Amino acid sequence: MFLEPQFRGQRSGWIEVICGSMFSGKTEELIRRLKRAKIANQRVEIFKPQIDRRYSESMVVSHDANSIHSTSIAHSNELIALSEGVTVVGIDEAQFFDEDLPENCQKLALRGLRVIIAGLDMDFRGKPFGPIPQLLAVAEYITKVHAICPHCGNLAVHSYRLTANEETVMLGEKDLYEPRCRTCFHLGSVLDPQSGKTDGH
Ligand code: ZN
Repeated sequence: MFLEPQFRGQRSGWIEVICGSMFSGKTEELIRRLKRAKIANQRVEIFKPQIDRRYSESMVVSHDANSIHSTSIAHSNELIALSEGVTVVGIDEAQFFDEDLPENCQKLALRGLRVIIAGLDMDFRGKPFGPIPQLLAVAEYITKVHAICPHCGNLAVHSYRLTANEETVMLGEKDLYEPRCRTCFHLGSVLDPQSGKTDGH
């Protein structure tokens, strides 16, 4: 489990990234860290891209409904002004942010803030997703969380899309995606429920 670093002398900021596939508990881990900071009376702000409208406009909502308040923003440049006087900034669904997110997170960290970013590290094709690779490169701390593959029980690192739609950004829940391990991801549609080839397993 991730433990916050201890300070000696003046506090400096840093960047944490929580990444992994869908259903791996990224948002739950983000909320766990933010809630502990709030209990310590640190001022916490949470941001997410406006593209994610699955749930309420003003809440970070994890899949188990363990939620805390957040602000939707259109561009990562808005982080700078909105984080005045804040100690800890949480960013959810970071893969959907613009390419300036890594630079803006570094500005916040230089200002002394703790920046905690949660996001998908790979899209449904298995390719690095949006600004996440750059964030992984500049972060002090990286936590990769995993789902469990429903086909074989191995650790799942992929978000497999259960439809033929080729758009990179497609929001949805269990009807559209499932977590898969490396092997089952590469087996592809053979394992899809509608293929009928998994009957009897
Ligand atoms: Zn598998």
